[in-house]
Amino acid sequence: MNEKISTTLRQPRQLLAQGLVPAAALPELENVAARYAVALTPDVAALIDPNDPADPIALQYIPDARELDHDAIDDIDPIGDNAHSPVEGIVHRYPDRVLLKLVHVCAVYCRFCFRREMVGPGKETALTPDIYARALDYIRTHRDIWEVILTGGDPLVLSPRRLAEVMRDLAAIDHVRIIRIHTRVPMVDPMRIDAAMAQALRVPGATTWLAVHANHAREFTPAARAACARIVDAGIPVVSQSVLLRGVNDNAEALEALMRAFVECRIKPYYLHHGDLAPGTAHLRLTLAEGQALVRQLRGRVSGLCQPEFVLDIPGGFGKSPVGPSYLSQPDGPDADYRVADYCGELHVYPPRPQDNTRR
Ligand SMILES: *Cc1c(COP(=O)(O)O)cnc(C)c1O
Ligand code: SF4
Repeated sequence: MNEKISTTLRQPRQLLAQGLVPAAALPELENVAARYAVALTPDVAALIDPNDPADPIALQYIPDARELDHDAIDDIDPIGDNAHSPVEGIVHRYPDRVLLKLVHVCAVYCRFCFRREMVGPGKETALTPDIYARALDYIRTHRDIWEVILTGGDPLVLSPRRLAEVMRDLAAIDHVRIIRIHTRVPMVDPMRIDAAMAQALRVPGATTWLAVHANHAREFTPAARAACARIVDAGIPVVSQSVLLRGVNDNAEALEALMRAFVECRIKPYYLHHGDLAPGTAHLRLTLAEGQALVRQLRGRVSGLCQPEFVLDIPGGFGKSPVGPSYLSQPDGPDADYRVADYCGELHVYPPRPQDNTRR
């Protein structure tokens, strides 16, 4: 396949040199890259089959001219982060947890990113010491904050030394019990997860959880699996995060393989996201009905360990809600029998009142 690539590819002409895009597409891809950051790590570039125009890895990272088609419903702040940002770097939407956006850069840039207007090398790289201090003060003075979620950008682009400092600062706050880190690094730049990084993720005084983002089973290379194992072996529980994407994981086989890969790596499937209304991502989104049908198929095919929750981040900043299919209905009214669908789709009767349970 590809020549061994040694650096992160950031320019469309580098993609051309690697045979990952056709020469004719170069001018329009330069336009896309001027608007939305591009980055493919060597590990990601090596995974792409340049002869497959529908490669599910390529679709996630190679820029596409359709990204400049902006829909009326698209929003530069698709999940309403700005509505809930009391101080720079913090998003406080739910009472018991905040996002702390430490960095605005990532190891790779996903074409469907919901923060695509906020992340990229042109943006401020990391919080300045002043802004970081004010964000910490906010967390310190809000005693309801039980969990701090490090996100960005990708917090694992920081050095282990800097991460360890942040972990210590957060763990020193009594009411902060959980530090959750959202990252793509174990999959896309697995060698960054070395012993020093694994050690930096743990801190006395708080419990670390990690949420790893992957969308296709092919992302689970031996190196990525080993990186995940180093994190779990360090005693850190890991959950998954995926986005439903047209052409990437929009069929039951692909979703099944993805969820099995997570569980094989000791990663509990957590969220399957419906694509957010980020600008220029319409070609990658499914309908909610398509998503529900896929989730229903998954329930019929794989272990309960492999079941993520299908969620929608409600536009406008109202938070995430489960939007998976319902297995329970009461077609004859609120006092009549329920119907419960089993994993094959067959319906079964269940009584409406507790006393009816004991009679039967
Ligand atoms: C997604 C999100 C969280 C985390 O939600 P969980 O359901 O706990 O995973 C917290 N705050 C904001 C603003 C979010 O967007
Ligand atoms: S790693 Fe996350 S924040 Fe970064 S570009 Fe991908 S989806 Fe966006």
